[in-house]
Amino acid sequence: MPIQYFVVFINPEFTLYLPKPHKSIILPTQVNPFIRKLAATPAKLTASDKKLADLLMSLHKEEDPYSRLTFYDFSILEKGIVSSCCRSLAIVISDGFCTCTKCGYKEEIDSAVLRSIEELRLLFPDLIITTIGVYQWCGETVSKKTIRRVLKQSSNTFINKRRWSYFE
Ligand SMILES: [Zn+2]
Repeated sequence: MPIQYFVVFINPEFTLYLPKPHKSIILPTQVNPFIRKLAATPAKLTASDKKLADLLMSLHKEEDPYSRLTFYDFSILEKGIVSSCCRSLAIVISDGFCTCTKCGYKEEIDSAVLRSIEELRLLFPDLIITTIGVYQWCGETVSKKTIRRVLKQSSNTFINKRRWSYFE
């Protein structure tokens, strides 16, 4: 059976610059026309086609065998606010600002705490966000009062957009 292969990029925000169009590469803006073209192609299916389709479906893997997520746990991860510029944990906090001692990047403390909360939610989607949890995640460097305030403000902003709950 002749096989035609394609590499299909489905992320709508993805772009690939090629010196010239490649017939086997389907870019995001080409996906819909490509599907329409496939659907419009006349075909007469035989019993062996059906057998092949069944075989392919039986070989389909629901779980990605190449997943590279390693095990991690809150307790084993190093805590602290990371520099949003160089990802270092060497942060000094004073006068409402976090300053990275490695690259010199300076960020308002509220924005750094918000970023840390987003990290927590990304790394631990099932974790209930608490003031004390964020406090520990930030390496116990930011006051609980500040964290509570940032959590309150952000929950007001995000509550309608997505699941966002936290407990005192
Ligand atoms: Zn830095």
